[in-house]
Amino acid sequence: MEKNRTTQDVYLVGVGVSPGIAIGQVSLLDHRYPVYELHIEAEEIDTEIKRFRQAVAEATTQLQRIKERVSEQVHLREHLYILDTHMLILEDEMLVGATETAIRTQRNAESALRQVLKNLRSLFDNIEDEYLRERHSDVDAVGERLLRILCGADEQMTGRVENEAIIVAHDLSPAETMQVDRSRVLGFLTDKGGRTSHTAILARSLDIPAVVGLETITSQVEDRQTIIIDGESGVVVLNPSPATICKYQQRKKHFEHLEHELEDYRNLPAITTDGMRISLCGNLEMESEFKLAHKHAAEGIGLYRTEFLFLGRQQPPSEEEQFDAYCSALERMDGQSVTIRTLDIGGDKFVTGLNLDDEANPAMGLRAVRFSLQEEGLFRVQLRAILRASGRGRVRIMFPLISGVAEIRACKRILREVTKELQRQGFACNPDIPVGIMIETPAAVMIAPFLAQEVDFFSIGTNDLIQYFLAVDRGNQHVAYLYDSFHPAILRALKMTCDAAHAAGISVCICGEMAGEPLYTLVLIGLGLDGMSMNPSCIPRVKRVLRHVSREQGKELVERLLTLPTSKEVSVAIDLHMRTLLPDLFARPLL
Ligand code: PEP
Ligand code: MG
Repeated sequence: MEKNRTTQDVYLVGVGVSPGIAIGQVSLLDHRYPVYELHIEAEEIDTEIKRFRQAVAEATTQLQRIKERVSEQVHLREHLYILDTHMLILEDEMLVGATETAIRTQRNAESALRQVLKNLRSLFDNIEDEYLRERHSDVDAVGERLLRILCGADEQMTGRVENEAIIVAHDLSPAETMQVDRSRVLGFLTDKGGRTSHTAILARSLDIPAVVGLETITSQVEDRQTIIIDGESGVVVLNPSPATICKYQQRKKHFEHLEHELEDYRNLPAITTDGMRISLCGNLEMESEFKLAHKHAAEGIGLYRTEFLFLGRQQPPSEEEQFDAYCSALERMDGQSVTIRTLDIGGDKFVTGLNLDDEANPAMGLRAVRFSLQEEGLFRVQLRAILRASGRGRVRIMFPLISGVAEIRACKRILREVTKELQRQGFACNPDIPVGIMIETPAAVMIAPFLAQEVDFFSIGTNDLIQYFLAVDRGNQHVAYLYDSFHPAILRALKMTCDAAHAAGISVCICGEMAGEPLYTLVLIGLGLDGMSMNPSCIPRVKRVLRHVSREQGKELVERLLTLPTSKEVSVAIDLHMRTLLPDLFARPLL
């Protein structure tokens, strides 16, 4: 691809993963180094394995050195576990053992390692969950480090940027991201990466604007070329004209002012201008997010995704291990409520050590509560752990992917049996633990009035609800354009669910990604949602909108939206409405 040095105002769009605007010069990190893939003779195998082992030892030393260096930086301490994970990967048989085996088939270390990395990647590619799928980047980062060592290339050093610059790289490993000098690095741009890659998470912790997934940015720019990045919208401008620079300087000022203001929201209640209290909770899918939940004053955990307890192991966690994890969640949330979702595994969500057959249509197969009801032994262990934790604090239990009344009745029957068993054995537990279900299937929406008779609360999982309602695989990029939260069918599904919950006198919240999108906040309030649970870092922005609007305004907007036949009209109407109502927050200048 040609370098783009002269044409002014070339716009590119990637995935904005860390908000903020940066205007500066490119510092291009070169990831290219020659990798020779060779056939070796049988007598060379031992020497080659030795060379590979030395590379593994050197990689461990490098990571250890980086860990020591960054452990003094307070804002990065909570992420040091990533470096530990990388050191563990360097001990893992799936990488190291498999590479040695491949070397024995007479390939040199580089070729063997590349083959193993390729195999591992195809394993990861089959995972539905975006967060888990992104974890292949940890293996890639370790693989890349080993390859550089084997080829004698230098470590990719982000710490060596000389002047203030925007780093452009094919990819950045967490270790590289951690080493950046915040006083010099104005932003990051990468060809690879997604919203939940570690680099993205770290960029947010470092407060450095970042756009990832640009695919070809490294081949389009040169060192010292001027560039603008908007880490919120994901827009990148190459060779900006003076007028564009001026426009983005103003935008930068506006962004910084709003960011500063956001800090004031931490200690304010989430309340609308007409006095409606909406609970804003955090979703949790890994241990480190507790800190974020605290930082952004989450009012509890609205969705504790228990899958992470089952990952990366051959045996499922024991009752005791799960009990400890749930109690630790209660402790860390300081008496606030924790809603624990039972295992949502199966389909494309991949966990080693559990009995999952290949299925022709996994999204509609044996996943979530269907798997739990089939593997009742495993289910009972989890229920025992959750119920025992309910004796220690405010625990609610939630069942995923319910599609019929019989299913929830079966779950409740087992829950009752387990409660009695625990009581007989003298364990403390809450026999009236609040029981909820996730509304994620069209069937659940259609029979919401019946389901509402069975449970204490609903939580709408829009990530799956949209996939099943619109028949669009949430992980398939070819149909991503159809995955549309503005679709009139989705609006109606949300309304039917909220109305059914309220008619039955139970609460209804939302815990899909839509909950964290400030553009939807007024619509969600208008629909009557009682609570929203989201990635904790989204809480301040949602709270800011919420404190500026009333439920009445929301209801009016929803009524109008319900008359619109297409997603386009719905999205334009919401956008226009929010720009007019809260110009300071939503009236961002167009490109
Ligand atoms: C959802 O489907 O909206 C949800 C919150 O569950 P998950 O993303 O874990 O499937
Ligand atoms: Mg779901």
